[in-house]
Amino acid sequence: MTQSRSVALICLWAACGTYCLTWKPNNPLDTENNKHTCLLHTLNQSDSCERKVKVSSMNLWTASLDDVLAELAIDPIRANYVRRVKDCIFSHVYPTPFTSDVQLVSVSEDVLENLLDLDTSVVNTNDFLQFVSGSKLISGFVPLAHRYGGHQFGVWAGQLGDGRAHLISTYVNRYGERWELQLKGSGKTPYSRNGDGRAVLRSSVREFLCSEAMHYLGIPTSRAASLVVSNDAVWRDQFYNGNVKKERGAVILRVAKSWFRIGSLEVLTNSGEFYLLRKLVDFIIKEHFPSISTTDPDKVLVFFSKVVSQTAEMIARWKSVGFAHGVCNTDNFSLLSITIDYGPFGFMEDYDADYVPNTSDDEARYRIGGQAYVGMFNLNKLLVALNPLIDNRQKQLASKILADFPHLYFQRYIELYRAKLGLLGASDGDPTLIQSFLNLMDDTKADFTMSFRHLSEITLRQLQSLTIPQEYWALYDISQHMDFPTWVTAYIQRLKSNPDDLDSERRQRMAATNPRYILRNWMAESAVRKAEMDDFSEVRLLQNVLRKPFHTQKMAELAGYSQKSPEWAKDLRVSCSS
Ligand code: AMP
Ligand code: MG
Repeated sequence: MTQSRSVALICLWAACGTYCLTWKPNNPLDTENNKHTCLLHTLNQSDSCERKVKVSSMNLWTASLDDVLAELAIDPIRANYVRRVKDCIFSHVYPTPFTSDVQLVSVSEDVLENLLDLDTSVVNTNDFLQFVSGSKLISGFVPLAHRYGGHQFGVWAGQLGDGRAHLISTYVNRYGERWELQLKGSGKTPYSRNGDGRAVLRSSVREFLCSEAMHYLGIPTSRAASLVVSNDAVWRDQFYNGNVKKERGAVILRVAKSWFRIGSLEVLTNSGEFYLLRKLVDFIIKEHFPSISTTDPDKVLVFFSKVVSQTAEMIARWKSVGFAHGVCNTDNFSLLSITIDYGPFGFMEDYDADYVPNTSDDEARYRIGGQAYVGMFNLNKLLVALNPLIDNRQKQLASKILADFPHLYFQRYIELYRAKLGLLGASDGDPTLIQSFLNLMDDTKADFTMSFRHLSEITLRQLQSLTIPQEYWALYDISQHMDFPTWVTAYIQRLKSNPDDLDSERRQRMAATNPRYILRNWMAESAVRKAEMDDFSEVRLLQNVLRKPFHTQKMAELAGYSQKSPEWAKDLRVSCSS
């Protein structure tokens, strides 16, 4: 156990004996517009303290009462109707349960067991199914919808907010980590605007699979605990061409340390609610940036500089696996710099610096090669939002911090790509070596992920011979380029600058950095098509495979997950519709 984890356990121990919230089924608590059931009672000290390990019944699952969110202002209007909300951070609002039966599509055992202390046997209980579909809630915790705004496609869009999401609990686990549990697709809120508050199965499968896959790729992200589907009809015009179809409503239980976004602060500044702005920034610093002293007169500046560097890190990591988010609006940019709100994302397949995953993005604003620029645009909007909290000197310093973003991003990008090429140490020629490999890929339209992977698997002797076996199909494509021999010579020369480095070690290093499996659109689509017919086997298969993206797996190979995309998938498109 790490030191921080053991300290956390001690803290949890010390907290025992306080009120706990236990949710008990069959005890109806009628509220304005829902039929949730729950019960509040006190656990005695020994009950609670003995439960330091996983629980297998939702009745024993507890959530802390001393919820820090209580510090943040709540909308005094309790009724659930669409409106412009003022002077608050959250609105109290209950999920709207589905009217039809729900089925569990899949769960993340890792999230349940290691983040939420739940034994996976709980998954078979009706209580669990009701909890994760939003029809049963933890007693005493009134769900919240968060008020935020945002710049969408570069333009201030005003109030947005959780239009189909509910924060249903915060949970402090056995390691002392605090997690926020949020349902997505769980019904209308005051922020639903013209939406129906629902999410369809297709987009939910994609978010469920991708957020977990990103975690295992080592990229900061929200997690997904579970995915359920109902038979409730949800109508969508998937490609905005007048072809409205009946789909099914689904709900994901998403888990993150925090769901605050740049837009969370923007809405407050934009409405002149500086008191709340100060409160929220203080809260975020206290909860999520413990290294910043709450008494530091420059704390907002330090906070800004941390978000700048962490955002550079996140986007560089996206780029290192060919991930394009698709909708990098400020309302989709987390203040903790984790990847959130998966929509029309995509992993680049054939190398294309201008790859745009979202077919609704006509101007290619969110193309993969533009994500760093957009990140800087978003950070500038964050700075504008923080302006009321900083003086002139701090404003000048903040501008300098922001101006350093491209440098920070480039540094991280180069470090990550050095690792992708298996290079040790740093050499001045590395950026050129990296870029020329990408250029070869670009010219030959080789597969980005598999090019790096094949380079991780092939021996240097084979590479030097310039005769690339067909099994390394992506690298084979590149080898057809007339400049390939020159690049190989430069690459081998660079590797030899570390004479003690064995080729077997290089391959091992690179294979732990370059994934063999990513969630390609066709893989997600294939799983979605089956799921729509109640066959969840491929969702689960993909989930299992993507938990070990760096390990060659028999089932994945049989399914063709490391092969070129099949012909039928050539024209697949992904839109904003979800
Ligand atoms: P997104 O594009 O998913 O990041 O959503 C942008 C905004 O639209 C957020 O405020 C969402 O809550 C809201 N939204 C998206 N879809 C729906 C929906 N079906 N019902 C209500 N609000 C929605
Ligand atoms: Mg969003």
